[in-house]
Amino acid sequence: MFLEPKCHAGSIEVISGSMFSGKTEELIRRLRRAQIAKLKTAIFKPATDTRYSKTAVVSHDKHSVQSIVVNSSTDILALCTNAQVIGIDEAQFFDANLTSVCRTLAHRGIRVIVAGLDMDYLGRPFGPMGNIMCIADDVTKVHAICTRCGSIAQFSHRLSDDDKLVSLGEKNTYEPLCRECYCKLSSVKELVNDNCDCN
Ligand code: ZN
Repeated sequence: MFLEPKCHAGSIEVISGSMFSGKTEELIRRLRRAQIAKLKTAIFKPATDTRYSKTAVVSHDKHSVQSIVVNSSTDILALCTNAQVIGIDEAQFFDANLTSVCRTLAHRGIRVIVAGLDMDYLGRPFGPMGNIMCIADDVTKVHAICTRCGSIAQFSHRLSDDDKLVSLGEKNTYEPLCRECYCKLSSVKELVNDNCDCN
């Protein structure tokens, strides 16, 4: 179980996992607890994430908190005035500069909580998530349940033929799978294109 930092020094926390693993729910839980602690919060998400609402961070269970939609990671630096705790949702869709933005915010004494997909549908590190995990003070991996066998799931298997990485996590587009079921269902082409050294 994650416990909040004791002091108000800056820090970077990452919440990552597959589709339907509860990333946004955990982000909202931490931000609500910060609000109970009378800390000023701000939440950002990229403009590419337009599911359900353009003004709220929305998780699949419909719990939501108001957020600020930004076009690039540097907008966060300009818009985070006075916030002591900053949440960043769907961080995998941000540009690579998000890593240095998180570092800058933490060095300013801000607690930064980053939520996003760790892997794309081909099992590759997604956007800036890998680098942010490296510089983070704390990384929480959350897991979904495999829809095929009920095991712990860490892969987001794509159900549609759309090969755009920005396809978002509606239930009819992706399903969470464990490694065994993912390898059975993913095409040989996808696995070969993974450029994995162990192929
Ligand atoms: Zn499975």
